[in-house]
Amino acid sequence: MTYRHYPAIRQSGFYKLFLYCLLTVVVMYAYEFMPAKKMLVVPSPDIPHFIYSDTNSTGDSMVYWTDFDGLAWECNIEDDGKPHGCGFNIYLGGGLGTDGIDLSSYKTINVELDYVGSEQRMRFYLRNYEPGFSDINDMQTAKFNNVHVPVSYVDDHLVLSLSEFSVAEWWVALYKVPRENSLPRFKNVVAFGIDINYPGIPGKQSFKLNKVEFVGEWVSRENWYLGILLFWLSIIMVVGAISLARLTKEIRLEHQRLERLADQNSLLAQETDKYKKLSMVDALTGVLNRQGLAEYIEQYFPAHADQMVSMVIIDIDHFKKINDSLGHDGGDLVLKQVTALIKSHTRQSDQIARWGGEEFILVLPATQLDDAYRIAEEMRALVATANFDEFPELHVTISLGVGTADGQTPFHQLFRQVDIALYQAKAQGRNWTVKADI
Ligand code: GH3
Ligand code: MG
Ligand code: MG
Repeated sequence: MTYRHYPAIRQSGFYKLFLYCLLTVVVMYAYEFMPAKKMLVVPSPDIPHFIYSDTNSTGDSMVYWTDFDGLAWECNIEDDGKPHGCGFNIYLGGGLGTDGIDLSSYKTINVELDYVGSEQRMRFYLRNYEPGFSDINDMQTAKFNNVHVPVSYVDDHLVLSLSEFSVAEWWVALYKVPRENSLPRFKNVVAFGIDINYPGIPGKQSFKLNKVEFVGEWVSRENWYLGILLFWLSIIMVVGAISLARLTKEIRLEHQRLERLADQNSLLAQETDKYKKLSMVDALTGVLNRQGLAEYIEQYFPAHADQMVSMVIIDIDHFKKINDSLGHDGGDLVLKQVTALIKSHTRQSDQIARWGGEEFILVLPATQLDDAYRIAEEMRALVATANFDEFPELHVTISLGVGTADGQTPFHQLFRQVDIALYQAKAQGRNWTVKADI
């Protein structure tokens, strides 16, 4: 069984959109599975570390190592009524100096500390060397970010959040720190330390630091989402730009195609016009043919219904004989020359056409019968006295019928009358012009 509608769904824009959305959600969710960024500082070999405290009445320090390399120390606060403290410190930048480590992409610290003692709270601190504020000659000027944690929390699973840290008030007061500099910062942390709440409770307490590990993220959630957003925005922009370019090109091509078509069209129109004109013209004599005359009549008569119009029908006498003596080609030449003679005597407004064979029709708009008759007679004389270069002996005559009607008279009616007049001219012996009886 085949599901023919499936490919259609797969090709549809919605299907793609759905896939892209799904992909986006998957990539967004993938953030939860991104491995954490971890930095282990304890245990690690050769990490610079030291302990500090006051000296007791016998001149010894109140703090001492029980295992220097294993980071185990003891604090024995003397009960002399004076305030004492003791603590432990590691350098994160490799030693005493201004270069620390950047913890700004870290979120938490895993601390594993074995503690035996009677303190209530313990202090953890991160010193940040601040360029422009801290002084290399007095490392106490490195910003003191600290957090106090009840000892009940201090075990193998102590997780400190960097957001718990605050800048110690005594440090702000001591160095008259400006407000803009009194917020916690972890950009250049030079030291990590643990000490007991000051002043310490007299007596012995022991510490063993097993682990200090900073945990953060390779990419922040905001940047991850921003990245996805920027990715799609750039895809949309690129796709948009490509589509726009393609569309512009298509429009340009279409435009060119239309222009070409228009050119071809006008060429075709010109050709059509040419052939139309040709189809109306008699090839031999160059005057209108029957079709051309019909077109002329159709256009002329309705537009000049209020005017008189005259018509002359001309027929060459005994043309068959001319053909017989000169041959068909000679007859053609004579036909051409007679046409030229007739045409030479027409006016601009007159229209001449070859009706067929050796017969011509002359339409004389806005012409009275007498004027038409005079013109016809002049034509007759012109032909009768004409010399034909190729045939010096030849004498050609024509017979003519002339008639006039008002513009409302149908063409065929006028034609019939004039044709009768022509017939009469022939009957009278040819080389005559006869007026139609209308
Ligand atoms: P009429 O005086 O009675 O008009 O006699 P006619 O011989 O002129 O008349 P008819 O109509 O009997 O003959 C016309 C001839 O014209 C017949 C035909 O062979 C010839 N003709 C028609 N068209 C052409 C043409 O294009 N070229 C040539 N050479 N002859 C043509
Ligand atoms: Mg004839
Ligand atoms: Mg004829």
